[in-house]
Amino acid sequence: MSRFPQSTVLGYPRIGPRRELKRALESYWDGTATRQDLDRVGAELRAATWRRLAELGLDGLPSNTFSLYDQVLDTAVLLGAVPERYRGAADPYFAMARGTEGLAPLRMTKWFDTNYHYIVPEIGPETVFKLDAAKPLAELREARALGFETRPVVVGPVTFLLLAADPGAALERLDDVLACYEELLGVLAAEGVAWVQLDEPALVQDRTPGELAAVRAAYDRLGSAAARPGLLVTAPFGHLGEALPVLAATPVEAIGVDLVRGGLDGLDALAGKTVVAGVVSGRDVWRTSPERAAHALRAVAEHAAQVVVGTSCSLLHVPYDLEAEPGLDPALKARLAFAEQKVAEVVALARGGFDGPAPAVRPAPEPAPVVRDERGPYPVRAAAQAAHLGLPALPITTIGSFPQTGELRAARAALAAGTLPAQEYERRVEAEIERVIRLQERLGLDVLVHGEPERNDMVQYFAEHLDGFAVTANGWVQSYGSRCTRPPILHGDVSRPEPITVRWARHAQSLTDRPVKGMLTGPVTIVAWSFVRDDLPLRDVVFQVAAAVREEVRDLEAAGVSIIQVDEPALRELLPLRQAARAGYLEWAVAAYRRATSGVADRTQIHTHLCYSDADQILDAIDGLDADVTTIESARSGARILDAVGSFGRGLGPGVYDIHSPRVPSSAEVETLLRRTLAALPAERVWVNPDCGLKTRTYAQVEAALANVAEATGRLRAELTRDAG
Ligand code: GLN
Ligand code: ZN
Repeated sequence: MSRFPQSTVLGYPRIGPRRELKRALESYWDGTATRQDLDRVGAELRAATWRRLAELGLDGLPSNTFSLYDQVLDTAVLLGAVPERYRGAADPYFAMARGTEGLAPLRMTKWFDTNYHYIVPEIGPETVFKLDAAKPLAELREARALGFETRPVVVGPVTFLLLAADPGAALERLDDVLACYEELLGVLAAEGVAWVQLDEPALVQDRTPGELAAVRAAYDRLGSAAARPGLLVTAPFGHLGEALPVLAATPVEAIGVDLVRGGLDGLDALAGKTVVAGVVSGRDVWRTSPERAAHALRAVAEHAAQVVVGTSCSLLHVPYDLEAEPGLDPALKARLAFAEQKVAEVVALARGGFDGPAPAVRPAPEPAPVVRDERGPYPVRAAAQAAHLGLPALPITTIGSFPQTGELRAARAALAAGTLPAQEYERRVEAEIERVIRLQERLGLDVLVHGEPERNDMVQYFAEHLDGFAVTANGWVQSYGSRCTRPPILHGDVSRPEPITVRWARHAQSLTDRPVKGMLTGPVTIVAWSFVRDDLPLRDVVFQVAAAVREEVRDLEAAGVSIIQVDEPALRELLPLRQAARAGYLEWAVAAYRRATSGVADRTQIHTHLCYSDADQILDAIDGLDADVTTIESARSGARILDAVGSFGRGLGPGVYDIHSPRVPSSAEVETLLRRTLAALPAERVWVNPDCGLKTRTYAQVEAALANVAEATGRLRAELTRDAG
């Protein structure tokens, strides 16, 4: 087996430093560019990445980390696991990713606890596996033609199967899948490849004895393949736990461990292995502490046969280059590292040796702040709110945003570029608010919203108005397919210099007699969708943000806003990967939310909103948020949540309109969903609303859908009155 290089990264961003791949994909999809155009951009991006990594001094270059959409989808294609219904499509790959005429796409969901979304494979008894190694081979040869020897990277067999829609059924197919991986190893060995990387992040989650047995079986078998390259198995995002000794007992030569998230326990199990020591974090934008990294490397060196300096995970989750941010404060910049800077850190650590002073010990975190109950119990509040608001039965509301028009986006860009005066921009926002208010009045909605036209994004908007945050100009990170976000950087103590949303809320309320909801993003979500300082426990950072949100909530109330919504769509996302840590997380996350929302009178109604299909798993925590009304995604997942809401103790609006689809639901469909909700919950606690915000839809779709929602609600209200009378 040839020696592993001294330094490496587990993967790299691929969307392009200027989002070149995004533009190329979207032009191909809308038919303004050819497949050749798209492939040329892909080849240019791959070449630029290899050149840059080599230039920075990295000696272990990965390949097959590029993807036109998603690496899990690429793996499905590699294994031939394309569901039958997509095979006839003009372009099966993008049909699976995005759907096509009359064919829905495969499901998409979050990649572990990151904000990256992968395409969920469909694997069952009928799946026919057949290796198609075209993509990794093409990238390998492409790199060689440029003079680079690379290590192909593929999602590992256990993780691939566990990520499938039905993991139990998928795991039954382990033997067949392993046959494909074995064949792939043979093909790569024949090409003269020295090392292959198989990513197994599923191993840092709790695994059953059966699943651990699958790990053992998989790597014993692949390890004893007749002709194969060296095997590197990586486990990003946490500690391998029970899987570590299992994996270490197999013949794989190299193991990649996440020493940033996973810590230094149990390293003796790695005796005799090559260890890719993930000491440079791929999940944040901070410079690596050289003392801390060297300390971890020394700990690994005590046991490992060879220590390779590496990243904790792929750098896919961080932006390309800090040098593309001339606008950032130099003092902050000195603390930051994006992908390029992180590669330089890996190289410096590998070249510099691991000697040095021990890192300072971090102080133990303070106990969590105690949050007192400041508001009355729910029944008392509900009565006060009913008297104050005078809403009809089954009140209709929306989640906050209305369609964002191209004109509005252009106006915001012009404002940022300095070509549109602030006053003119504000006039346009106010005009949009008025249009949204009139539309809702016309449709007969009961609790109105201002439509959020002033917001580019529900987190970035608040980050721009709070102290302690910085925003980037080019810090794009891939979210899914061609979609990217620019997570704000939470780098200091958070505070709110002045009210943020009050002026828009006041304007909206001045236009109508109906209540208009104030609309805020919650502390957990603001933190979840930012890069967060790592010198404080996450909990303390969330409480700081909660204090700022609390001030905003109180200012809205003082401005005469009677209903305030604080969204927490990311509550579920920060849930720790291991079961044992979940209760502790939910406890402080819920406490922070209550800190943010409990500073108002009983008659002021607090709403929250969440949107993910598996909310039923954390329904108790959602109830614990103690919001008077919770609106939640439901229509999209076939109203599955209704089976679980019986114990839910306050107002609830399971969505009756799937806003992710351009389809307009009929009033009969809405009525069916409402009837099911009324069967599960007492009528006085039922709210009527869409699944989520409307900003990605068109006005035509939204008007038609909400009209049907109002019509169905009207029918059921009449029935309720009749039954009561
Ligand atoms: N209030 C936000 C909106 O309507 C909520 C979005 C979300 O849940 N992701 O756009
Ligand atoms: Zn939502």
